[in-house]
Amino acid sequence: MLTQHKVHELVPEKKGHFINGAYTQPRAGETFANLAPAYDTSLGDVALGSRDDIGSAAEAAAAALNGPWGKSTPGERARVLRRIAELLNEHRPAFARLESLDSGKPYSETLDGDIARSVANFQFFADLCAHQTNATYFGEDGTQHTSLREPLGIVGLITPWNLPLYLATWKLAPALAQGNTIILKPAELTPLTAMAMGHIFNAAGLPPGVVNIVQGFGGGGAGEALVTHPDVKAISFTGETTTGEAIMRASAPMLKKLSFELGGKGATVIFPDADLDVAAATAARAAFRNQGQICLAGSRLLVHRDVAAAVIDKVKAAMRAIKVGDPLDPTTTMGSLVSREHRDRVAGFVDYARTCPGVEILVGGQIPQDHPRGAYFEPTLITGVDQSSRLIQEEVFGPVLTVQIFGDEDEAISLVNGTQYGLSCSVFTKDIDRAQRFARRVRMGLVWINTWFARDLHSAFGGMKRSGIGREGGQYSLDFFSEFKTISMAMKA
Ligand code: NAD
Repeated sequence: MLTQHKVHELVPEKKGHFINGAYTQPRAGETFANLAPAYDTSLGDVALGSRDDIGSAAEAAAAALNGPWGKSTPGERARVLRRIAELLNEHRPAFARLESLDSGKPYSETLDGDIARSVANFQFFADLCAHQTNATYFGEDGTQHTSLREPLGIVGLITPWNLPLYLATWKLAPALAQGNTIILKPAELTPLTAMAMGHIFNAAGLPPGVVNIVQGFGGGGAGEALVTHPDVKAISFTGETTTGEAIMRASAPMLKKLSFELGGKGATVIFPDADLDVAAATAARAAFRNQGQICLAGSRLLVHRDVAAAVIDKVKAAMRAIKVGDPLDPTTTMGSLVSREHRDRVAGFVDYARTCPGVEILVGGQIPQDHPRGAYFEPTLITGVDQSSRLIQEEVFGPVLTVQIFGDEDEAISLVNGTQYGLSCSVFTKDIDRAQRFARRVRMGLVWINTWFARDLHSAFGGMKRSGIGREGGQYSLDFFSEFKTISMAMKA
């Protein structure tokens, strides 16, 4: 039985996989270290998943597919999803604390952002699943044809560390709604909230084996074993573009169905007629929320030359208001990055910027002196960066915002489109014709006008170019996690 809000009760002392409804130890007995990046302290060793563990999970998932879950109706599944949402919501503070410890992000954001959204993911897909319809067509010869959705079978979900439970539940909820059984491989840097979900699944009455969670690494580890397991029909993956390539290559011989949400290099574009206060404040939020570790981050600020100086001053003011510190302190607005290795990678980009002619670091650019422990990095503003620079072309995935100045709409669009990515951007202007023109001409899967990060869970979510394949969200997710069977019947007049 779960007691309210006790973190230690949500995570088993021996941090195992969750297979067939029980916490289990790795078959090879190996573990890996899990650290709290804000404090440089251990959160305990975690089961290191192997091909054997994925095999056990696949056996449990296959058995569950042949059990009552495989015959369940959408209405029955919707009830379980609603119960999962209720229980997760009851334990939201404990999950938020776990997520903050594991990832370094502020508790205020995990409570009202990550975990609240995880609850919403289950509620939303419960409703959508209960209201699905199947199409029936009548042939001229009197035949009747019904296209029914069926589960794919066993599906593999592979998730990143930047929004750990938020993105895991964004896949778990629609995969469950469609009656699949699941093997989830969470990111190795943030295993804890997914692990804790085992208790919630059991308490909600989800049959054993419907969701299995195998911890561990990607290439050469549990991730690759999941991708290459012959019984796993589909892989829904969120992570780096190069990892997507590796998954596509590895799964090609088995012709798996794939959904990819990959990297991004978002831009915030500000025209002179915009509300500059709103635009600059939003640009700072888009760049620095979640320590800049969001695929949708507006990591490039593109500002018209007539208002560049004013906008830069306003962005600097917004940056001064950011409070970097202990993620569990309620007044903190920026926590630690996810690991020291990642922090050093981000610092490496800034060191590289220092070597580039014409580049100026206007704010930050250092490891904060008052945080000798933890993977902190100052919010950083850099100007004078050329479009061809690594800082513009590659994902820094940290609290680093570059500023580029443009002269007209065509130039702004060409800068926005001038990377390999095509996930998201924001445009700030009061001219609705320009806003619409701009939105149609950029090659981005998501375009915000005078806002950032606004989402409706029904709408299509995903990237163009090398930012992804397929779309998630509402019916798009339900379509991915199911396949159609058309049943045709002769009818006597
Ligand atoms: P990553 O690609 O390194 O890892 C993601 C997951 O893939 C992890 O669970 C990892 O263990 C696993 N993995 C790695 N190699 C694998 C392999 N060969 N086979 C199977 N699994 C493998 O990504 P990350 O560093 O955890 O996350 C950051 C990246 O995710 C950024 O590029 C970011 O833009 C992207 N991201 C995209 C979206 C989106 O919706 N488009 C959302 C969030 C994050």
